[in-house]
Amino acid sequence: MIPYGRQNINQADIEAVVNVLKSDFLTQGPVIPQFEKAVANYCGVKYTYAVNSATSGLHIACIALGLQEGDIVWTSPISFVASANCAKYCGATVDFVDIDPITYNMSVNNLREKLLKADKEGKLPKIVIPVHLAGQSCDMEPIWKLSREYGFKIIEDASHAIGGSYKSSKVGSCEFSDITIFSFHPVKIITTGEGGMVCTNNVEVANKLYRLRSHGITRDSTEMTHQPDGQWYYQQIELGYNYRMTDLQAALGMSQLNRLDEFVVKRHGIYNRYKEIFKDVSIKLPELEPYAFASLHLYIVRIENNIAGSNRKGIFEKLRANGILANIHYIPIYSQPYYQQFGYNRNDFPESENYYKEAISLPIYPDLSDSELDYIKETIIRPLGHQTLF
Ligand SMILES: *Cc1c(COP(=O)(O)O)cnc(C)c1O
Repeated sequence: MIPYGRQNINQADIEAVVNVLKSDFLTQGPVIPQFEKAVANYCGVKYTYAVNSATSGLHIACIALGLQEGDIVWTSPISFVASANCAKYCGATVDFVDIDPITYNMSVNNLREKLLKADKEGKLPKIVIPVHLAGQSCDMEPIWKLSREYGFKIIEDASHAIGGSYKSSKVGSCEFSDITIFSFHPVKIITTGEGGMVCTNNVEVANKLYRLRSHGITRDSTEMTHQPDGQWYYQQIELGYNYRMTDLQAALGMSQLNRLDEFVVKRHGIYNRYKEIFKDVSIKLPELEPYAFASLHLYIVRIENNIAGSNRKGIFEKLRANGILANIHYIPIYSQPYYQQFGYNRNDFPESENYYKEAISLPIYPDLSDSELDYIKETIIRPLGHQTLF
């Protein structure tokens, strides 16, 4: 079986977790701040907070930026539902910006046009959440300029993109955003089992994120309503959550972070190999923009024509039948039954509609071998009726 993505766990990872198991703290111990600091140093950002998932991170990011009931959030329809759900948790209205036909990220031109229109109608978003699909950064500088012009905040959903960069900065530096979120789910670039990281350079936002992660509690006397009653004292000053990561997870994250660059190099090796093996097959391969260095979380191709008698659906089924677990990233969020009740019109998102008809994610992960890659190609170009079992 060849999945579309999978983790790479080595002996050092296992030992790191076992060491925490033998230590005094399984959670709220010393490894979490170490992991946070290591990610901050890697990305070149001031404040980082580990959380129990990227979804939790997106949620507290929205709250920390003041999102409230009745506010509007825009994101990309071609993303995991969590990119939009975080706004719904806060009672906000969600709308979508159609994608760019080359990168499949939120289109800056569509964003500009939609802002112009929304401004006239008094319906500007409070937050825009660009998603770095497949680990390739959105074109953040023009989005940042638009945020200055129209007064919205930016959360980068970089769930796919740790290890990538945009222009001269690492994704996570928040050079062109208020907050950046990473995911450490096992299919992502590095893993902590479940987990995520919230990054920001703004000290007030950082303090709020820190409290929201753990019940809205502060131990900082300057944030309290009066002097502490004693050394035990804490105050809950707002409504927060338990979105903490454990030390077990942080230890795995620390160990994985050591191999992040190596993982990304291997993903680029697979990208190059795919380019080679598909050079004579009429499949639209992913294109990398010069402004970004992609972490290549996903390898998304588009099947525009029939190949060996199969369309996209046929190729998907052929791959699955042969033990290759291709996937589709993503079903447009506005078409999900939960979102349909809010009345989106598919015709407003022509590029997303076209994309959804043709896209397919082929396997990409550090351990994928050359022979497996050849097998994937052979399965795609093999005529129907010649199926072999893997
Ligand atoms: C995986 C993913 C998330 C959610 O990450 P979790 O850590 O599983 O909560 C959010 N957004 C995108 C784009 C993702 O791919």
